[in-house]
Amino acid sequence: MRDIGDFDVSDALLGWYDHHARDMPWRVGPADRAAGVVPDPYRVWLSEVMLQQTTVAAVRDYFLHFTTRWPDVMALAAAPDDQVMGEWAGLGYYARARNLLKCARVVAGDHDGQFPDTYDALLKLPGIGPYTAAAIAAIAFDRPETVLDGNVERVMARFYDIHDPLPGSKPLLKDRAAALTPAKRPGDYAQAVMDLGATICTPKSPACGICPLRDPCRGRIAGTQSELPRKSPKRPKPTRHGHAYIAQRADGALLLQRRSDKGLLGGMLGWPGSVWSETPSEAPPFPADWQPLPGEVRHTFTHFHLILRIWTAPLPNTTQPDELIVMDKHAFRPSDLPTVMRKAYDLWRDH
Ligand code: SF4
Repeated sequence: MRDIGDFDVSDALLGWYDHHARDMPWRVGPADRAAGVVPDPYRVWLSEVMLQQTTVAAVRDYFLHFTTRWPDVMALAAAPDDQVMGEWAGLGYYARARNLLKCARVVAGDHDGQFPDTYDALLKLPGIGPYTAAAIAAIAFDRPETVLDGNVERVMARFYDIHDPLPGSKPLLKDRAAALTPAKRPGDYAQAVMDLGATICTPKSPACGICPLRDPCRGRIAGTQSELPRKSPKRPKPTRHGHAYIAQRADGALLLQRRSDKGLLGGMLGWPGSVWSETPSEAPPFPADWQPLPGEVRHTFTHFHLILRIWTAPLPNTTQPDELIVMDKHAFRPSDLPTVMRKAYDLWRDH
């Protein structure tokens, strides 16, 4: 059932996409696709992993850096961990970067550098969940898989005037989206629905007047489109506190720490510090004349807000604590730090 009444949704969306597809560095546009250009699964996979929880605008430069430095999955699989983590710094959700490397190495080692081309086989790779497997299968391999991101959820809720709140309504929205997915050009169709949600059926002010689905759209007819999709109320995020210690030796070297692979910011460079909790104790990494800096660093993670107090101390050149990295001032790049650690560095530097 691909029609609502006698309206062919996929034809309307594909016709609109042919003229209005967004230009993105990882995308093979509809004209090239029609001319026989095939998407590179490596680029599709990389972009989809980067886009998890992150906007297209934020991902663009990272994608270009990554693909310039590591143009294919074999090159990425051979890259040292710290270089990949460094390039990823600032993009957030660092478990994605660790899984990215794991996945590249599995594809390189177990699949001769070729990504598997079905949803089920893709789902077995590290860091690839149902959404990403469906997106890669559809976009890279033209499989008729249903891709349900926030844009598609919004379009489906409005198009069918579904008032059940998210996230409970996801299965229903997915069923509706699946029923519309065509056998013809499923990769272009998946991207068309996402583009419609990103550029026309936008969260705050849907441009129904120029929407290719305006005639049959039940939400528009009912006048409820701006209220949809409904969402269950979120629990407020708790606030945690922590202490971070930034010290520079007289020769300019900075003392850093590579965080353990497990947990938040796992594998990333950072400043030594306390646990993050409601009332953390001070935890200087070694004895020194630590002094608190005025001000504080605030950062919000998915599940909590963090307030960090920053301490600093003057150090002689002989300071070389176990388990810390003594980084030469010329080798230190703030861009290698995850955002919260870069905010701490900025506060310290400005002081
Ligand atoms: S008509 Fe309006 S509400 Fe319906 S899909 Fe198009 S933009 Fe969204």
